[in-house]
This record gives sequence, structure tokens and C-alpha cells, in this order.
Amino acid sequence: MGTGTDEAIVIVGASLAGAKAAEALREAGHDGPVLLLGKEHERPYERPPLSKGYLLGSTEREKIYVHPPQWYADHDVTLRLGTTVTAVDPAAHTVTLADDGRIGYRKLLLTTGSSPRKLPVPGADLPGVHYLRRVGDSERLKEALRPGARIVVIGAGWIGLETAAAARAAGAEVTVLESAGLPLLRVLGREVAEVFAGLHRDHGVDLRFGVQVEALTGGPGAVTGVRLGDGATVAADAVIVGIGITPNTALAEAAGLETDNGVRTDQWLRTSDPDIHAAGDVANAFHPLFGKHIRVEHWANALNQPQTAARAMLGQDAAYDRVPYFFSDQYDLGMEYTGYVEPEGYDRVVFRGDVPGREFIAFWLSGGKVLAGMNVNVWDVTDPIRELVRSGRPVDPAALADPARPLTEL
Ligand SMILES: Cc1cc2nc3c(=O)[nH]c(=O)nc-3n(C[C@H](O)[C@H](O)[C@H](O)COP(=O)(O)OP(=O)(O)OC[C@H]3O[C@@H](n4cnc5c(N)ncnc54)[C@H](O)[C@@H]3O)c2cc1C
Repeated sequence: MGTGTDEAIVIVGASLAGAKAAEALREAGHDGPVLLLGKEHERPYERPPLSKGYLLGSTEREKIYVHPPQWYADHDVTLRLGTTVTAVDPAAHTVTLADDGRIGYRKLLLTTGSSPRKLPVPGADLPGVHYLRRVGDSERLKEALRPGARIVVIGAGWIGLETAAAARAAGAEVTVLESAGLPLLRVLGREVAEVFAGLHRDHGVDLRFGVQVEALTGGPGAVTGVRLGDGATVAADAVIVGIGITPNTALAEAAGLETDNGVRTDQWLRTSDPDIHAAGDVANAFHPLFGKHIRVEHWANALNQPQTAARAMLGQDAAYDRVPYFFSDQYDLGMEYTGYVEPEGYDRVVFRGDVPGREFIAFWLSGGKVLAGMNVNVWDVTDPIRELVRSGRPVDPAALADPARPLTEL
């Protein structure tokens, strides 16, 4: 039925991680069959523009794709879109497709990514309620972001805040509802979360913290409001839900692979089955620098982990130990974050630069060591920040705070 062979390397999930894995296999010298299987009907594309330039209308559709259409044939990569893998049989070394076809593999890579968490309240599937993961979601949302439209965003995480910024740019009225006391509180902690609260308030967003969403209200035609725990209703022409994601582990679980907040892998991105690897949002990988498993739901991880997975599948020695990195753009604020901090896992934040002017670097420290740094409207500093994080050496906070002291000399 399928086109796989005993020699094929099969990749399940044709997004950034899957496409980069196919590329890395060819770069590493693999000349056997490579099959890239994806549920979506679009060839692999990048998601960050879906809440930024593509949603705003400043990034063209052609710019979002990982590779040009011809790339797959040019590199002898069999790309099968609209193809859902329904089962993996590790003993038989096969995957089963939704149409019951079977494909044999020598090595299998799971790059099944993640899915938006659903809002568990009545009315959550009314028309006009938006989740944002796929390019079609972004296009539907763009239609809803009209001047004067009342947009309610549930969840003040990265997706919620970026879409709030896009909605304001489109001239919509925006209310953000968040159960925690500040935006991004778990990721950034109070000190830096306050910067993002100020940013959105300054751009006219109605931010409401400590609120519970009880139900979405409306008729069969569309959502018209969000009912809160205190009985009040916020009127809405459209609702955006951004309350986090869950890794797509169902295939791995059913196949008996070890899972725990993602598919557990070692530092070579190998799962509990030696012929199955995992990379990208779905992988909860052992990280040698931190001495523990971490799952990173960001673009750079999906871009870079596949190189390690590809080389490891080919028997080449490669461990993944990159320092996590991500970025965001909201209004005129651009930021990059380098490092890793568990929620409440720091004891001090040191700022360097102009915090009220939103041109600064924030450093999260524990025991005098830099765990992470975030540059806000300051550029070309990720290399020294990464080195500070990687070195694990104690740094003088006064020197860290002093813009006159080059980061490379701390
Ligand atoms: C709107 C948006 C904005 C973002 N912005 C940023 C940002 O600014 N900075 C940043 O660092 N990160 C950002 N991210 C996160 C980043 O896009 C993800 O980390 C990245 O997409 C992960 O890539 P992936 O290939 O691991 O998984 P995914 O992109 O989730 O892709 C997984 C693919 O596998 C397919 N699949 C799943 N199961 C099966 C199956 N059984 N059979 C076949 N196919 C299957 C899915 O349909 C999907 O196409 C953003 C994400 C979104 C949604």
C-alpha cells in the first residue's frame, strides 16, 4: 500500500520540525528514501507570522513557507500532505494511515507538534470563537479584526498578546481576560510581566486580571459575549482563545512509547524505542546543560532539534544542548529571550537600560548566576547572553546592570 521500504526514514508531521528534518537528513548524507507525512493540506510553513506579519497583512503568504514547492522533488523528499498517521507499530516498523495504508520504516521521526488547548466552558465552539494554530485560522481571524469590532482575547500569553496587538493595529477595541494577576506571569515573573501589562495598556487594551470565564454567550449564529465568574458579561463580536497548547502525543502513547508532558527522549532525541526519534514542540528532551528533561514550544527549537535527530537517526553522534531561544513582536516592541527559567525559579531580576522607554535587557538570576536574558528593542546581544547562561558562572549584578560594561567582559 505505502511507498515506504525497509530503508525509508519516515517523518510524521510536516511542519517546521518535519521539513527541517528532511533537509537535515539530506545534508547529513542520507541518500535513501525520505517520506514526510502531514495532516495539513499546506506544504510545511512557519507559524510565527500567523499572529504577526501575516495577520497584520504585512507578510505575504509565499513568505511563510519553510521551502519553495520545488524543493521537495529537488531533494527527493516524498511529501504527502492531507495524510494522517493513525498508528505506529514499533515491532513491525510500520505506520498506518487514515486510509488504512501502511508504510514501512527503518527509522521514524515524530514531529507531530502541539494543538491549542480548548476552553472548557459552554459556548466555546460558537461561530466567532477563534483558535490560532494553522494558516486558515489566521486568515479567518484577520477577517474578524475590523475597525471598531469588539474583540475579546482569553489568555494573556504570547498568542493572546500578539493577537491583541494585531487587533489594535486593525482598529478593533480589545479586552484581554486573564485568570492570573499579570500577563505572561508564569513565563516572565512579576517584574517583566509588568512591562507587558504597561505596553498593552498604553496601546488602549482593556486588560482584566484575576478573572474567570464561565461561558461564552450568543445564539446559533455567533458569539456575542463572554460571561465572567462575577456574573458580568463582556460584549464580543469575536473571541480569541489563547490558553496554551498540549503536545500531540496520542500516536506515541498508543504505540507504547514513554510520554510525560510530550514524548520523552534522551539528548540524542531518541524515544524509549531506539528506532523512533522525536523533535520540536512534541519532544520532552533531556537537556545536558540543565540536567533534566525540558519541552520547548518555540520556533528555534523546532528549527534546530531536527538536525540532531537526523544525525542521530543516521548513527552520527549528535546531542541537543542548545540554550532555548524565542522571540515576540508586539506593536513597536521586539524582544528575544535566551535561556530557561522554571516558573518562580529565579531569585532576582536585573535590568540594564531604559525600562520605562522599553529599551532594555532583563536578566533572571539564581544564586548570582544568569539563567536567562531578554533583550527588548536592543539587538545583537543574544550571543553574549547565551554565553552568560551557558557558562553558569556568577556575575556581579552591578556590572550586569551597567550599560557601559560590555556583556562579553562580564
Ligand atoms: C500563531 C503562532 C505564533 C507563534 N509565534 C512564535 C514566535 O513568535 N516565536 C517562537 O519562538 N515560537 C512561536 N510559535 C511557536 C512555533 O510556531 C512552534 O514552536 C513550532 O511551530 C513547532 O513546530 P513543530 O514542527 O514542532 O510542530 P507544529 O508546528 O505543531 O507542526 C506539527 C505538524 O504535525 C501534524 N500532525 C500532527 N499529528 C499528525 C498525524 N498523526 N499525522 C500527520 N500529521 C500530523 C500537524 O497537523 C502539524 O502540521 C508560534 C506558534 C503559533 C501557533
